[in-house]
Amino acid sequence: MKTDIEIAEEAQIEPIVNLSEKLGILSDDIDLYGKYKAKISIKKFDLKKSGKLVLVTAINPTPAGEGKTTISIGLADALNQIGIKTVLALREPSMGPVFGMKGGATGGGYAQVVPMEDINLHFTGDLHAMTAANNLISAMLDNHLFQGNELNIDPERIIWHRVMDMNDRSLRDITIAQDGLKRSVPRVDHFDITVASEIMAIFCLATSLSDLKVRLSKILLAFDKDGKAITVSDLGITDAVALILKQALKPNLVQTLEGNAAFIHGGPFANIAHGCNSVLATQAALTYGDVAVTEAGFGADLGAEKFLDIKSRELGKSPDAVVMVVTVRSLKYNGGVKKSELNFENLEALEAGSVNLKRHINNLKKFGIPLMVAINHFYSDTDAEIKLLSRLIENEGVNFALADIFSEGSRGGKQMANILLQTLKQEKNFSPIYDLKDSIPEKIEKLAKEIYHADKVNYSEKALSQLKEIDEIAGQSLPVCIAKTQYSFSDNAKLLGAPDGFEITVREITPRLGAGFVVVYLGEIIAMPGLPKHPAALDMSMDDNGQVRGLS
Ligand code: ADP
Ligand code: MG
Repeated sequence: MKTDIEIAEEAQIEPIVNLSEKLGILSDDIDLYGKYKAKISIKKFDLKKSGKLVLVTAINPTPAGEGKTTISIGLADALNQIGIKTVLALREPSMGPVFGMKGGATGGGYAQVVPMEDINLHFTGDLHAMTAANNLISAMLDNHLFQGNELNIDPERIIWHRVMDMNDRSLRDITIAQDGLKRSVPRVDHFDITVASEIMAIFCLATSLSDLKVRLSKILLAFDKDGKAITVSDLGITDAVALILKQALKPNLVQTLEGNAAFIHGGPFANIAHGCNSVLATQAALTYGDVAVTEAGFGADLGAEKFLDIKSRELGKSPDAVVMVVTVRSLKYNGGVKKSELNFENLEALEAGSVNLKRHINNLKKFGIPLMVAINHFYSDTDAEIKLLSRLIENEGVNFALADIFSEGSRGGKQMANILLQTLKQEKNFSPIYDLKDSIPEKIEKLAKEIYHADKVNYSEKALSQLKEIDEIAGQSLPVCIAKTQYSFSDNAKLLGAPDGFEITVREITPRLGAGFVVVYLGEIIAMPGLPKHPAALDMSMDDNGQVRGLS
């Protein structure tokens, strides 16, 4: 089979204006970025008149690859193919993983969004804008110290980090302002990856330019020497930061290989951030489609939980159905098979690993949203494996379909589309896992017990003192955004399957007052990833005519 980039290059796609006209977007509301990309105006979208929302999630990720984005795209194409006007809302890729381990995020095979090369690199510049907005705050903060520190900021208590959109572990902990100038204030600083920043979270939760400004103004940057909170508003730069983001905040419109609409906008990771595309892009997809298909990152214990407990509250809408993506290969991996052996049939390992799927199914049932499972078919799956997996899902009493959209496009997704339409007719009784009125430790406890199935939550000394501080500056009512490994229900990446009898440890809690949540760090998770031994960058090439290979 051809590579993703070969398939994408060969696609005959229409100019994006044709698509925007078909969607009913007024020409005044479109800003073109070349022929195949556009931004649309931010509107007050009326969610009462909006379409059905479908959330795509998955079991815990494995090196075998699950295919949530691929399935989301294939599902949208298949729904359009059977006459249901469907629009996608997806996250925009970060260049960290593109050049690191995971690769791009534009789907694969015959279920892709295009132009894939642009989307996976600079796209319309949104991540660059966020990086600049974040680092303007850092520059203004350090300049404030240099110019005499009128706000009496304690340089030891600055919680704001610099960011960049690259995996670079050597910048995790640095010392800055070592120029020897008399008024310089050397201090320890840190770089996070842009997608883990509060700016990204704010960008993805803001519902308008004015909401963006309010959120930016509230960002907690530091404490002064008397322990008082210092915010972006105290620095007097709310508007300056907002204007860097003004154009970026408009949702990006592109298309699938089959010519269907996709809003791709905002891209926080789901392990160290909240993992969903922008609220504005989801609202746009709901406005212009009768069905909107969206994806939350990593496994359902992270991305879907945060979608349902954090994003839905800001969006003003919960999903009408959830699609859980599973593959034979990733269940075999959960059942103990090594990556190099995944191409061989192994029914025992498949059954053993299926406990991971079962637990995710039972977890999601707690939210009261109709659920179906989509089996993402890989060429190496055997008939016996598919039969066994189908039986195991049937035993759980949920709808399921086999999808082969990777090699067939929408044709391979018809069954999935039809089962989804049935699932959408089921009754919905949505309730989040925790109430905003619960205290922060109660919220963490509920997630630990109901979603992760841990026995006990431990707190570090640091986390306990941060909890006290958060209580003083923001009370207890914020939702919690858990930062933990994506590979396991627990905070230990090695505990695959459906582990029981473990404890989790809250290492640190950071208030993100602009985003409107607190980030709770479990285990060893860090906000600046490193590159692997063999980064994807090593396999990329470009000929003298600009033809690219090795980008996937
Ligand atoms: P996720 O969104 O869950 O991270 P992606 O949709 O990005 O997953 O897919 C991860 C990788 O697996 C991509 O390179 C994609 O091309 C590949 N992939 C997805 N589905 C299939 C499939 N059915 N067969 C082969 N490769 C696939
Ligand atoms: Mg994805």
